[in-house]
Amino acid sequence: MNKITVGITLGIDLGTTNSVVTCLDEAGQPRIIKNSEGDFTTPSVICMLPSGEMIVGKEAKNLAAAYPECVVREIKRQMGKVDGDGKPIAFFVDHNGKEWTPEELSALIIKKLLNDARLYTGHEVGDIVITCPNYFRDDARTATINAGKIAGAHVLDCMDEPTAAATFYGLNHNGADMRRYMIYDLGGGTFDVTIVEVSNGEVKAIATDGARDLGGTDWDLRVMARIASECQAKGITLDPDIDAAMCQEAKDRAERLKESLSTRSEAVFNMRAGSEQISFTYTRDEFESDSADLLEQTAEKVRSALNSVNMNPADIEDTVLVGGATRMPMVRELINKIMGKDARQDTDVDLVVAQGASISAAHMAKQDGRKVYSIIGSEILSLPGGSFTNVAAHALGCAAIDPDNGLEGFTPIIKKNTALPASCSETFALTDERQTTADVKVYQGQEGESLEDCLHIDTVTLSGLPCGPTNEPRIEVKYEYSRSGIVHVTVTDLKSGKSQVGEISHQMGLSDEEIDSAAKNIKENS
Ligand code: AMP
Repeated sequence: MNKITVGITLGIDLGTTNSVVTCLDEAGQPRIIKNSEGDFTTPSVICMLPSGEMIVGKEAKNLAAAYPECVVREIKRQMGKVDGDGKPIAFFVDHNGKEWTPEELSALIIKKLLNDARLYTGHEVGDIVITCPNYFRDDARTATINAGKIAGAHVLDCMDEPTAAATFYGLNHNGADMRRYMIYDLGGGTFDVTIVEVSNGEVKAIATDGARDLGGTDWDLRVMARIASECQAKGITLDPDIDAAMCQEAKDRAERLKESLSTRSEAVFNMRAGSEQISFTYTRDEFESDSADLLEQTAEKVRSALNSVNMNPADIEDTVLVGGATRMPMVRELINKIMGKDARQDTDVDLVVAQGASISAAHMAKQDGRKVYSIIGSEILSLPGGSFTNVAAHALGCAAIDPDNGLEGFTPIIKKNTALPASCSETFALTDERQTTADVKVYQGQEGESLEDCLHIDTVTLSGLPCGPTNEPRIEVKYEYSRSGIVHVTVTDLKSGKSQVGEISHQMGLSDEEIDSAAKNIKENS
């Protein structure tokens, strides 16, 4: 029996479709941890059977066609969604009527990854870093961190996926000359593009853009539309309310057909639907034409990321493809067209984010004065290069009245793409000379966005203010954005010296007690 003494440091890529967990070897190089099924990737799928049995990963995915109502997937798309009271929404209801939040469901996936890491390495789990899309706002980042805590882990941070991918390249490029990479990340449910600068082993993201609801699943839906029309021609309606199992099977087959078309110019679809056999040949050309608008959406984001930092494709050394959906040949063709050269061939599109996350986890643990342990439980004393600087994926500001038109709008204080951690302040005047209270409404959004479209994070109230004229700049709003994009706000009345700090990262989503209770709950139920 091994004596368990240390907790190894892990990086987790918590994907919409698949998740990966990694640690470092004694030389500080990333090592992928195989799950208990012997695979490097674990489907982010959960099956809760009526018997109470709970299954996570490949077997849960395999059960989807037989038990569609028991299977929950694409949980990541729900992260950070809250109800009117700011509490996480219920995303799944099991057979006992228990409602599961996205945080709890993600915690079940993380728990499996941690258990598999324990089994594979024979050691306890120590600090972890979980990745998320760059454009996840504060609500979704906090939800991701909470999921890790519910799974019982010590979460150092929630870091951006493209930065993690670039960190892996930073490790391998220690030259003093600065190189710029573009990370084009198209996973199952999300897309983002990030431009990073790498020099001396340090990675700095300088621009980012993306679409939260765009991913390989949307390409599947285009194949599904074709399947639905073939079914319709035979008098069969594909509708989950009529036949959920048939719909799920069609969806699984649509995904496989899409994947076949990455290596073949045409593929045959075959499925039994009731008494009919649905069979047709689908060509890559047809597929590419049916999904051209989706690809174009990613092209627009690439151009806008380049424009945001006044760069041309020639300023970028290489494009790194990340995410399973980048295997579609149309993606490489697009990159070639826009960037004028092919994307790098030497990337493992499924693993690179987790590989970078484990390097970052080690660096963060070191920065926090914690020990870093390798896959064999030995302490890693010196780490290879690969530190990183993150940028703000969203502008952070507050609601303020524009004196020119009297309308309340979003005033950015920390601009998008500012290097993190960052601290910026802006001073405002009161709107009424009898005013003794200032409400600072904190928003996260994009510059030029209307207040309704921005994310209202919190309101910090400063009361007991001495009255004064309305043209006097006196309310200083200082924002501190941590390296993971979590926000702290300090509001100070410069006239009276009164100050109020908003612990925003703690006020969103779940409280500490709620996290403890969710952790107890998944322990009992899984
Ligand atoms: P990820 O979230 O990075 O695990 O990516 C999952 C997505 O990649 C899913 O939509 C998969 O269908 C898609 N994918 C995986 N392999 C391929 C492939 N060979 N061709 C096209 N899409 C793929």
